[in-house]
Amino acid sequence: MTALALDIGATKFAAGLVDPDYTLRGVRRSATDSDDPWAVCRELLLAVAGDIPVTAVGIGSAGPVDVPAGVTRPLNLPRWRDGFAIVAHVQTLFPGAAVRFAIDGACLVLAEHRVGGLRGVDNGLALTVSSGVGGGIIADGRVLTGRTGNGGHIGHIVVPGDDTPCSCGGFGCVEAVAGGMSTVRWARAQGWTGDTGAELAAAAHQGDPVATAAMARAGTALGQAISSAAALLDVDRVVISGGFAHSGAPLWEPLRAAVARHARLEFLDGLTVELSDLADGATLVGAGVLAVEADSGNARMAP
Ligand SMILES: [Zn+2]
Repeated sequence: MTALALDIGATKFAAGLVDPDYTLRGVRRSATDSDDPWAVCRELLLAVAGDIPVTAVGIGSAGPVDVPAGVTRPLNLPRWRDGFAIVAHVQTLFPGAAVRFAIDGACLVLAEHRVGGLRGVDNGLALTVSSGVGGGIIADGRVLTGRTGNGGHIGHIVVPGDDTPCSCGGFGCVEAVAGGMSTVRWARAQGWTGDTGAELAAAAHQGDPVATAAMARAGTALGQAISSAAALLDVDRVVISGGFAHSGAPLWEPLRAAVARHARLEFLDGLTVELSDLADGATLVGAGVLAVEADSGNARMAP
């Protein structure tokens, strides 16, 4: 069997071969800023596949998606914003292959569940906190994907006391408050002069008051969103990946304080929130899980 994984990210496409133990090989990446994103994807997939007959392809995509229709319409990919039939196109490229498709958050939680911090956990959340905030849910041992495959959009849980406009068109979403990009924007509006989330974290570590306040604002919002989601879903473990999640104590202390303050129901006593140990590219690993398990007939995953 030859399983392929494809990740349709906001700024990059990635593809690779997947071994039965979910290890990726021969990964290639391309920028998404093309007039013809499918041509870029096709080249990437064919280059990775080489001459080997492909038996399964797993696709993870930035959302929103319409999984029953096999259509992706990523917010940050203007050419596909009105919908692109990714599953049909990949199927045409590899007619004999099983093709599986899920949103990136579902792929992330699959990766955490099979090889990361949610191994052995039946009820958990995987979050990614980078420029934005995303995530996926494991409930009763299965990935919860919802009606259209968009389940797990934790970045758009509304946090109290904030009306910052969100990329989704709404206001006060945790992504709009606690995403790396929004946190930098907020700090700059308060007079901080850096440019990136990493610089902001470094400034907070050095005691810069605006950077510290920005990190506290982000960490608190994340802790509030996590507490809401944990109570709703009755989960006991949360793992957080993504570049901005690596900001250290200035982000994590307020986050943990907010969880301690808000997650008070008795059934949440054992709730743990930890930094993920998965490297970048967990979405591609999760897409690989889809492919391998399609190949092996493993039905543990819903989409
Ligand atoms: Zn939103």
